[in-house]
Amino acid sequence: MHLKIVVTAGDGIGPEVTNEAVAVLKEVASLGGHTLEFDARRIGGVAIVRDGTPLPADTLAAALDSDAVLLGAVGGNEFNALPPEERPEVGLLKLRTALGGFANLRPAFAFKELEVTSPLRPEIIDGTDILFVRELLGGLYFGHPREWNRVAGEAWNTMHYTRDQVARVARIAFKLAQGRRKKLTSVDKANVLEVSQMWRATVNEVAAEFPGVTVEHQYVDAMAMHLMNQPRSYDVVLTENLFGDILSDESAVITGSLGMLPSATIGGKVNLYEPVHGSAPDIAGKGLANPLGAILTGALILRHSGGLEAEAAAIEASVRKVLELGFRTTDLARGNQQELTVLSTTEMGAKVRETIKTMLVSA
Ligand code: NAD
Repeated sequence: MHLKIVVTAGDGIGPEVTNEAVAVLKEVASLGGHTLEFDARRIGGVAIVRDGTPLPADTLAAALDSDAVLLGAVGGNEFNALPPEERPEVGLLKLRTALGGFANLRPAFAFKELEVTSPLRPEIIDGTDILFVRELLGGLYFGHPREWNRVAGEAWNTMHYTRDQVARVARIAFKLAQGRRKKLTSVDKANVLEVSQMWRATVNEVAAEFPGVTVEHQYVDAMAMHLMNQPRSYDVVLTENLFGDILSDESAVITGSLGMLPSATIGGKVNLYEPVHGSAPDIAGKGLANPLGAILTGALILRHSGGLEAEAAAIEASVRKVLELGFRTTDLARGNQQELTVLSTTEMGAKVRETIKTMLVSA
């Protein structure tokens, strides 16, 4: 397998965590006889400083010509005074739009060893393994008309979807459910919104193509509650854009730290992979960043762009093993301190690589 991966590390802790993700991917590739080609490009604040724009043309061209893009994070306090249209985040929004991915996958997984870092009780989160599939290019964030009419003192946004937009993201969610526990929960507000009524009808139509998958529908308000009191009962959760934005952040509490969460955006020209967290200026450059979210994002590259399921699973198993052995970055270092060893960003990356080597060589 040969994959060309563009790495846009970005700002703050972005370069620190992506370095570790790339090193882990290189280790897995060398053990499995795969060639991964990495092409580092600038995005965000670092690109504003060096190139005068948050998304340089060469970065965009390289991304469009790649098999996958791995992004660190963009943004920093020194750019906060810029007008919104010139900020680092604009580079990421433009990149996402150009790559065209419409299905945002966000796993929310409870690692047993990290249960003490979650505010939820262990008996509630134990065994939770949810995959959110959030529609990313439609709904309220993109619908027209949209306006804040200051003179009239009125503002409005439009929640708009076409049947095709719903069907294509639903198909991805059903396919993913087929490879998991074969349950799909579709989230809407069909008791109030016409958009949701069409969403539900379309999901039911697509469901007929996947007879092996059980479908249920939940209203978004009820779902917000169920996610906190029975997260274990969900497998794949399919949502429109705004509902998914809110619910997937809510479920971050299950994992205990933002630094643990990976994501992938698929379905467009080129898939975009990024840890969920931002550039964390408060800890940047101090060796405190947790690289596990970025490393788990690397596993998603292998799974969704490389079809390398065994290698992706090996990365995930190594992360679990490292946690089991009591290794933690500072954000995770809660619980019985005598049983924990706190590591820096690079030490944690090295520990995962060491563990993968042992696992893949002895497999
Ligand atoms: P953030 O995710 O950067 O940080 C929130 C908190 O979580 C901070 O206390 C931070 O130290 C901690 N944290 C985040 N990632 C961590 C990790 N890997 N290890 C340990 N701790 C971690 O969110 P924020 O503070 O709201 O935003 C900071 C900047 O990042 C802003 O400029 C924002 O616009 C940008 N941002 C970028 C992205 C992205 O690039 N996708 C996403 C969110 C925010």
